Amino acid sequence: MKIGLFFGSFNPVHIGHMIIANYMATHTDLDRVWMVVSPQNPLKRKAGLAKDYDRLHLVQLAIGDNILLHASNIEFGLPKPSYTIDTLAYLNEKHPGKEFVLIMGGDNLATLHKWKNYELILRDYHIYLYKRPKVELGKLENHPHVHHFSAPLLDISATYIRQCIKEGKSVQYLVPEGVFEYLEGSSVYR
Ligand code: ATP
Repeated sequence: MKIGLFFGSFNPVHIGHMIIANYMATHTDLDRVWMVVSPQNPLKRKAGLAKDYDRLHLVQLAIGDNILLHASNIEFGLPKPSYTIDTLAYLNEKHPGKEFVLIMGGDNLATLHKWKNYELILRDYHIYLYKRPKVELGKLENHPHVHHFSAPLLDISATYIRQCIKEGKSVQYLVPEGVFEYLEGSSVYR
């Protein structure tokens, strides 16, 4: 089984994320997409970052009953900060029958050369890349393990969602319905 890993803070998850996850699960040879929620680094508490399990719960609400997608908390129990190469090694050990692929936006590819052991990542794994507007992909654009996809793009960010909530503006339709309802009744991001 081929699993695409879509990493993020998902603070909170929004429909831009869901469009990518669903596109990769349905328009490529991936069997499933796991949305891997990055934990908060306990040594670097970031203002405005909701608690790990709140963000995971929001991703679960966003996914609902779609069996092609899965919310993963795999990094919560790994040493922090979690480096992708270490998470991949752990996942391979835990799931010997599965092949893991990285889902990445062009903005991430442009800085991939700064990641821990990026040469190993590119040697041992495939990257399914989707374009981001106004982003130069850099020298890794034509690497044989980088596969390009044109998913529909939506110009929103979690920062924008948090800002709307703080200002008391509606985020209906910008986040999946279940996420919207949950946020309406909660103090997260207020
Ligand atoms: P923030 O605004 O807090 O930085 P974000 O919306 O960029 O958050 P992340 O959790 O950092 O969200 O995103 C996870 C991944 O999704 C990242 O690789 C990011 O590049 C990508 N991403 C974020 N927003 C979009 C979008 N609108 N369309 C496609 N990909 C996105």
